[in-house]
Amino acid sequence: MTFENTIDFSLEQDRLDPLRDFRSQFYIPKHEGKEVIYFTGNSLGLQPKTTREYINRELEDWAEHGVEGHFRARSPWYSYHELFNVQVAHIVGALPDEVVAMNQLTVNLHVLLTTFYRPTSERYKIICEAKAFPSDQYALESQVRLHGLNPDEVIIEVAPREGAFTIQEEDIIAAIEKHGDSISVVLFGGVNYYTGQVFDMQAITAAAHKAGAYAGYDLAHAAGNIELKLHDWNVDFACWCSYKYLNSGPGGVAGAFIHQKHITNIALPRMAGWWGYTKESRFQMKSGFQPIPTAEGWQMSNAPVLSMAAHKAALDIFENAGMQALTEKSLKLTKYLFYILDEINKEQEHKVIEVITPKKPGKHGCQVSILMLERGKEVFNALTEQGVLADWREPNVIRVAPVPLYNTFEDVWKFGHIIQTILNS
Ligand SMILES: *Cc1c(COP(=O)(O)O)cnc(C)c1O
Repeated sequence: MTFENTIDFSLEQDRLDPLRDFRSQFYIPKHEGKEVIYFTGNSLGLQPKTTREYINRELEDWAEHGVEGHFRARSPWYSYHELFNVQVAHIVGALPDEVVAMNQLTVNLHVLLTTFYRPTSERYKIICEAKAFPSDQYALESQVRLHGLNPDEVIIEVAPREGAFTIQEEDIIAAIEKHGDSISVVLFGGVNYYTGQVFDMQAITAAAHKAGAYAGYDLAHAAGNIELKLHDWNVDFACWCSYKYLNSGPGGVAGAFIHQKHITNIALPRMAGWWGYTKESRFQMKSGFQPIPTAEGWQMSNAPVLSMAAHKAALDIFENAGMQALTEKSLKLTKYLFYILDEINKEQEHKVIEVITPKKPGKHGCQVSILMLERGKEVFNALTEQGVLADWREPNVIRVAPVPLYNTFEDVWKFGHIIQTILNS
């Protein structure tokens, strides 16, 4: 397809977009009375207009039934989390028994590492990406210390090569091969939060397994953004949050995946709580923990129903749109953005914009990280003043995420137009 750097072309693409009607299902924040160009769905997804209704339903049932709502609410609260596993399984490519909506992301990372990071004197290392999201770094470091080990000797970070931003996949595989049977867990992001690089989870998992280690992923920037096949890729465990691409509200309930081959192993050590206890006999309140033989067996607490109601509203929209249609549109939107940014560079005397996100299809999701070679902060401030919500990362990176559910080709064109106007002034 040949793109054009014109508003008419972008409007025509929006007219042809099979998902065009989904935008109206979200509240778009305003700036000086006009809808913003919201490019921060990778940080906090927008609010579906139905969210309020879903939460109100639970508030009404609570008002009407009090504690009896656990069994009498229209969606009884004692089993509320069961509303999610089929829809969530579609989003991450899992079997319904392999996923559970629970807790928060970093909490789930700890919960899963407690099971899968069981260092021995021979096998104790963790292989991960350099400059992972800080919360993940702290989680890993503290897990290592909980076992009385020294993070400096245990955590092996794979970094981009000198002068590069993204990590070479062969370097990840090479690190796994090098440390081999001293590795306990390989833990990566599905999509790197800074560069937008998608990691080859299937290849990393295969390499980890060859070394006899577990493979786990933080899918904060992947869930609801790229196509995932956790079950088929044989991933051991994964977790994600629901407030980024999954639009389930600030601090919304997170998710966890544990592969089928592990869920029935009730001997696996874990942090236990009553909500992970076999349902049939949970309320007999006997001593001795008997886990549910699905991912639910890792639940500790009863479901946070109000935050889960928001999750349900968002997942119903995802289901209607379909992950495949979303990823197809996402690819087109980002391709258009790459094109627009190239056009801007061509107009300048020398290159001003460097896209650090890999451009190859399959190697990126909807986030595009733009390294400004000059006038970065000035461009970013001007964008903000003109109603573009993007994200600034020191020293010179603007992160934008045209999200297929509610962003448009017009958004992308306007974004480029604003940058072009600033650079030409
Ligand atoms: C957003 C994000 C987090 C945030 O963790 P919370 O526990 O939800 O506060 C953690 N890790 C990664 C990779 C993220 O992108």
